[in-house]
Amino acid sequence: MTSPRTFVIVGGVAGGMSAATRLRRLDEHAHIIVLERGAHVSFANCGLPYHVGGVIADRNALILQTPATLGARFALDVRVRTEAMAIDPATRTVTIRDLTSGDEQRLHYDALVLSPGAAPLRIPIPGVERGFVLRDVTDMDAIIAAATDARRVVVAGAGFIGLELAENLRHRGLEVAVVEMLPQVLRPFDLEMAHLIAERLRENGVELHLGTTLSGIEPDHVILDGGASTLPADLVVLSVGVRPESGIARDAGLARDSRGYIIVDAEQRTSDPAIFAVGDAVVKQRFDGDPSPVWLAGLANRHGRLAADVIAGRPHAAVPAFGTAVIGVFGLTAAVVGRSERELRNEGRAIRVIHTHPMNHAGYYPGAEALSLKLIVDAETDAILGAQAVGGGAEKRIDIIATAMAGAIPARALADLELAYAPQFGSAKDPVNMLGYVDDNLLDGEKSVQWHELSDRVAEGWRLIDVRTETENAAGAIPGSELLTLDGLRDHVDSLRGERVIVTCKVGQRGHTAAALLRQYGVTVANLDGGYTTWRAGMAATDGVANNPLPAVAA
Ligand code: FAD
Repeated sequence: MTSPRTFVIVGGVAGGMSAATRLRRLDEHAHIIVLERGAHVSFANCGLPYHVGGVIADRNALILQTPATLGARFALDVRVRTEAMAIDPATRTVTIRDLTSGDEQRLHYDALVLSPGAAPLRIPIPGVERGFVLRDVTDMDAIIAAATDARRVVVAGAGFIGLELAENLRHRGLEVAVVEMLPQVLRPFDLEMAHLIAERLRENGVELHLGTTLSGIEPDHVILDGGASTLPADLVVLSVGVRPESGIARDAGLARDSRGYIIVDAEQRTSDPAIFAVGDAVVKQRFDGDPSPVWLAGLANRHGRLAADVIAGRPHAAVPAFGTAVIGVFGLTAAVVGRSERELRNEGRAIRVIHTHPMNHAGYYPGAEALSLKLIVDAETDAILGAQAVGGGAEKRIDIIATAMAGAIPARALADLELAYAPQFGSAKDPVNMLGYVDDNLLDGEKSVQWHELSDRVAEGWRLIDVRTETENAAGAIPGSELLTLDGLRDHVDSLRGERVIVTCKVGQRGHTAAALLRQYGVTVANLDGGYTTWRAGMAATDGVANNPLPAVAA
């Protein structure tokens, strides 16, 4: 009989604990040691913002396992407040330090799994030590303690965690301002979609300072844009990005990318064959584009399990990452998958973009909510490159599209997906099916114009025809548009023949009917994608200045 193998895992939360428990299920006899620098293992980091706001009332609900429960069920040797200090790949040993006693020890491993995660960035600005960050239970406790005496909070960074914190600090009754360097919230979304989320934040009393840089933190205020202005703040939370905790990987000579993320192959193996790495500290193979980090719990868990499979002799390759993510902001759901229009246009990719604004389920059934959807498609191959959704049922539609992407289902085929339907859940033609129909129309030769292309087209001499009703037009219309309602359009065909015409309606659906009609009378016609609704969101997001609505944003 061979002697039991020893597996050492660095990091006892998402990726690390998935690897450890999977390894136990595959190898009952191995010695599995989990090293965790912090005080807790297997805690629900994704739930932390909600305890700050009292939405998750019970703090203990966030601590899913303890060393004792993991020892009892999985016979894991879990050591908290224990740090892996150095790896020696030549002797396959890790030097560890007990942070309570200071004692050091060397552990031999047959395989080592690194899942050290990524630490919140502390930007080099005066007073940064006054800022709080949120990564673990200890950070959460510190924020709650500081919030107890605070009245006015500044959250720096409008990413997922920053916005979750902003909402939850509002739930505590605090005045909240968010300072964000980019001209929008939530970088993975495009401007006009992100605007819908920004509006919801403002409606709920969150002050947004977009395109604004945090330059310093003083005891009772923050300094913005190098001193151009200040904001009162008795609590500042920094949520401005992360850096990989890959120092021990670097010192062990493991390959890392230019930003310090550990490079792994499709089996999560590092440049040393006995060392695996997963989670926020590693680069991921992307479905489109170069490997890069993706900071998501699902991927950390999945890759932890995969590394365990490989170690246990069940090798298989990681599926590329799509970056599927979701957030709830004051009751508004926003979800995203894949690439953004901004990124792809900055790369010069030929793409088709589709915006729709359906209801999440049949409008006649009580409780229907508005949903805004965006699909981004490779213009040549019809491959789905990305999707964004804001509103009721956003997460369901993005999950369907993410599944379609994983199965390499082209955009046109979304029309043919057979999705469950009853009036309280969806529509006989689900919003996802509708995206497929719109794509089919575009493949069939229908032309569309994006909200940020409109002013250029009009300057080139295209006429803009609003086909909505008089009442809708009177309530707000695109400057320079002419009103010719859809029902009366046939009477005006002669005056439009020979012209280049853009039709617009509320969401693009009547525009499609108008475009189909005019095309058949020989009019050169394009439909304003997403109609007045998308255009208005885009213009509001850019303060009406559409000269550069797709600013290049550094990755
Ligand atoms: P972690 O879970 O961070 O675990 C790494 C652990 O390693 C840490 O506890 C660290 O102390 C320990 N460690 C590091 N170095 C050493 C060392 N040398 N020795 C010993 N221990 C070490 N993702 C989602 O998909 N959805 C969400 O809603 C979501 N919400 C989030 C909310 C918050 C507040 C945070 C912080 C993250 C959230 N995430 C979310 C991201 C998700 O939690 C991470 O992607 C995931 O936890 C990464 O797993 P990991 O194992 O790589 O790192």
